[in-house]
Amino acid sequence: MKTTPTPAEVIACSLKMLPEDQWIPASETAIRINPANKAHLHQFRQAFTDTVIPPAHLALLTAKRWPSTGVSLTVSFLEAIDPALATRILSHMNSWTQYCNAKFTQVSANGQVRISLLGNGYWSYLGTDILHIAAGQATMNLQGFSMATAESEYHRVVRHETGHTLGFPHEHTRSEIVNRIDPVKAKAYFLANDGWDANMVTAQVLTPLNDSALIETAHADPNSIMCYWLPASIMKDGIAVAGGTDIDAQDQQFAGMVYPLPPKQLLKDHKDVKLEKVEIKEKNEKIEHKEKLEKIEHKEKIEHKEKIEKLEHKEKIEKLEHKEKNEIIEHKTFDHKIPDIIPVNPNNPVVGATSSQVPSGLEQRVSELETVVTSLTAFIDSSLRPNLSKGALSNE
Ligand SMILES: [Zn+2]
Repeated sequence: MKTTPTPAEVIACSLKMLPEDQWIPASETAIRINPANKAHLHQFRQAFTDTVIPPAHLALLTAKRWPSTGVSLTVSFLEAIDPALATRILSHMNSWTQYCNAKFTQVSANGQVRISLLGNGYWSYLGTDILHIAAGQATMNLQGFSMATAESEYHRVVRHETGHTLGFPHEHTRSEIVNRIDPVKAKAYFLANDGWDANMVTAQVLTPLNDSALIETAHADPNSIMCYWLPASIMKDGIAVAGGTDIDAQDQQFAGMVYPLPPKQLLKDHKDVKLEKVEIKEKNEKIEHKEKLEKIEHKEKIEHKEKIEKLEHKEKIEKLEHKEKNEIIEHKTFDHKIPDIIPVNPNNPVVGATSSQVPSGLEQRVSELETVVTSLTAFIDSSLRPNLSKGALSNE
């Protein structure tokens, strides 16, 4: 069960208001940045047709939201700060980013959001109003925040003030809650505890937001991060308003409606698991297909190689067979040729030679002629020369 804080434990947040001379230009800025900011003013006029409202006060009721397309703001600290503390504060500011399209980025100086830890109280200007704060002056104050501050205070205060910077007003200023506050008791209470004068209490606590201007929820959310604790002593019904301690479900829904997350991010949040599964399946199928292809290729390669080897082997065998056949034919042919070409002559050494020693072509022919010449010479010597020698001798 939630424990009710005592006044000493709670520092009330005062939603900072610009100086009166800035009210109209600031409302013009707000409408220029997000034309929908004007709708609240229009609806407020409709709701209070019998009441004459000064233009400056109407300007004050202009919404101060950033463009619905998203918020991206730089943040710097006015004083030197422990980097760990800066990181811790930024992490709580960015706790909104999981529910809406908003982002806070720390810069060394001159941020759009300028935080001081030395000023009095916890406060922030509302939304686009921070653009009307002079350079070097704080747009948000977190009095005394340090690494020793309880984590629950980071949730309750830093996230609350960041809500103001995002343009979210106090939830407790909805008429449903304001109507329960005793104005006299409230003025006395806030004067005593926060030093607020009557006007400040009227602006911060007793001026209701018009319900018709609020599209977010049908009823005030007493546990909203934007609703702070109101003591039972200032309530007509004697029941304290608990106040929010963290961004609750309604706040998440509301922030997401004002600054919708990009479709991509929504897709990532809700469909990524499904997409990832499909991607993994596709990837696996691709790998399987590749492996299958590689197996087929490998099989084909081996079969092709085997086929080629078989063919080469066959060709080799055929060549060998062909060679052997040729050699046999050549051998046979040579055996028949020798007797035809070379006449048998026992006096010629050529005849006695083996086939392997037989001279080929011209040499063989010369050898044959020499044989013939030798035979003729022998014939002449034996039959003619004796007669020739006789005649010659008789003539001498
Ligand atoms: Zn506040």
